[in-house]
Amino acid sequence: MSGSRTTHFGYETVDEASKAARVAGVFHSVATRYDLMNDLMSAGLHRLWKAFTIGQAAVRPGMRVLDVAGGTGDLARAFARRVGSQGEVWLTDINGSMLVVGRDRMLDDGSLQPAVRCDAEALPFPDGYFDRVTVAFGLRNMTHKERALAEMRRVLASGGRLLVLEFSQVRKELAPLYDLYSFSVLPWLGKRVAGDEASYRYLAESIRMHPDQDTLKKMMEEAGLSRVRYFNLAGGVVALHEGFQA
Ligand code: SAM
Repeated sequence: MSGSRTTHFGYETVDEASKAARVAGVFHSVATRYDLMNDLMSAGLHRLWKAFTIGQAAVRPGMRVLDVAGGTGDLARAFARRVGSQGEVWLTDINGSMLVVGRDRMLDDGSLQPAVRCDAEALPFPDGYFDRVTVAFGLRNMTHKERALAEMRRVLASGGRLLVLEFSQVRKELAPLYDLYSFSVLPWLGKRVAGDEASYRYLAESIRMHPDQDTLKKMMEEAGLSRVRYFNLAGGVVALHEGFQA
């Protein structure tokens, strides 16, 4: 690995060039069981965290919304119900297996919105196109998080809002229980329900390697976003960061 740049894949140090393929392997593997696993793993709490994000996004009729790493489309579907016939909601993800599930769920919901396979680090949209950009539980998986944040800021219109929902650092007193749950229950559930223990071990590890609340706030500021703030949810298990395009 000498000479090449490295990054984290969970607790493993890997060549930067190989991380995206490893992450793709995880999401190809879990795509069909992803929604069921989300409900089981979080005891349904992910729905509340997403509902909070949707409320905070304050999407109005006629707006253009981009959901980055949108996967099976929970946020995009909610936004599609709010933008009306004049608005646009773009569901995007780098992973074809996840995007197909998300696109089909949008269609089942009666929503004819575009679904585009693309990398958050190189978004195929013009500067200043969107009123809202969201990314839920996606940033953690990206190789160059700074690049992805800069891209999300670039495509935001002046006054537009970026919302980043992601696992974060739990309160100290919750840590022992949370660790036990993450490293014992999660891989066990992954094995029993999705037939994939390794992907759910990666989930637990990738959460530990992700920047904490204040570090991510600083990264968003460095990406050029203003008035950045965050909300801790469930004692910091998850945080919603919000920032604005000047
Ligand atoms: N946003 C959905 C949700 O909240 O349920 C899906 C989240 S899922 C945990 C993470 C998603 O990030 C996967 O669908 C994965 O393919 C996507 N992803 C990972 N790296 C990405 C990248 N560089 N660009 C776009 N999507 C990416």
